[in-house]
Amino acid sequence: MQGAEQKKMNIAVIVLDTLRKNRISPYNKEVDFTPNLQAFSEDAETYHNAYSQAPWSFPSQASLLTGLYPWQHGATQAQPFVNSDIMLLQEKLGKEGYFTGAIHNNTWMIPLTGVMKRFDETKTISDISNYFQGIWRYTQNSKILKTVRKKLFLQVSLFNTLKMERSITDLSKQIRGTERFLEKNKNNKFFLYSNLVGSHYPYRPPEEYRERHGVEKDSADLESRPVEYSGNILEEEEEEIRKLYDAEVEYLDHCFGEIIEDMKEKGLYENSLIVVCADHGELLGEEDGFGHHFSVNRNLVNVPLMIKTPENEASEVDEVMEIRQVHNRILREAGIDVPEDERGEAYGMYDRPVIYGEKNPEYDGSKALLYRGRESGDIDSKKVSIDLLKEKGPDYFFN
Ligand SMILES: [Zn+2]
Repeated sequence: MQGAEQKKMNIAVIVLDTLRKNRISPYNKEVDFTPNLQAFSEDAETYHNAYSQAPWSFPSQASLLTGLYPWQHGATQAQPFVNSDIMLLQEKLGKEGYFTGAIHNNTWMIPLTGVMKRFDETKTISDISNYFQGIWRYTQNSKILKTVRKKLFLQVSLFNTLKMERSITDLSKQIRGTERFLEKNKNNKFFLYSNLVGSHYPYRPPEEYRERHGVEKDSADLESRPVEYSGNILEEEEEEIRKLYDAEVEYLDHCFGEIIEDMKEKGLYENSLIVVCADHGELLGEEDGFGHHFSVNRNLVNVPLMIKTPENEASEVDEVMEIRQVHNRILREAGIDVPEDERGEAYGMYDRPVIYGEKNPEYDGSKALLYRGRESGDIDSKKVSIDLLKEKGPDYFFN
């Protein structure tokens, strides 16, 4: 990488939470409601075989920000913290003179879990996340309170997942926050991390998007039965959920377009490295399931990934890329030396490349290992997603 020019390059990572690959036009030409992602893909490398390291936000985004597998960085349901001795991407870029900022709305992506630490600036939009941040600050100086905090955290996060607050799906504040960050830092060398939680349930797209997708049902009614635990979705409701999801995707595309437009207006688009990806996808009826978390179905782990550098030509890439490798790619583009990616033999290359990075040479990719760590060995992913949940109940996974 050429030094002088690299110094001026800004970096933006835009994580479109829970965005399914086949619901956006760069990956499915039949989709006609994501023009902004389509336009971006025409300037970018579009990866067709990008895999996230987990089917839910926290371990997946921790992999992106550490370059490691979940068993290495520790961020899992069993341990809701990134191991404290690991350096995060934001620190590495900060040391190279980047001003680093995160704008996020995901209740796992907070200082409490370690993954959002050491940004120069963070902006949390969600009220619940602000609440967590308050707890974090309040308990930080007491050993006893810190222990209690650790014990409570899993329960609180489950509660939070089930009762996702309304503000989470309103992206307008996040867009304004991003625009303010860009305005303030347009003359700096910056690293911006923006996690837009738009197509994550509960699906509450603005009215005009609901209308455009012919949504008839009141989504509040569906939300009273957490889709993640399935089994209580009536057959006639399934199509309605898919329409709601698509309406959310169109709204997300619109918001993404606003960020890109703003970057262009400020003269920041051309010379920036921009990574756009999902942390995981969403089930919309596959394996009799909705939501994510409890399966490694392809629709969850084979995610969209597009990378635009100041110099690259648009291309379609079939080579396998793991979301955790985005970390090293960014450092390399910034002219920072990183060792070659290690993808040891034990991690194998299969139909579904290793999700959790378990050190199991027998791992054949078609089986899921529970990230909870309670079960090891082969478990049919379908059983993990639905049958095991029905049989054991959520407590089994979260206790
Ligand atoms: Zn997520």
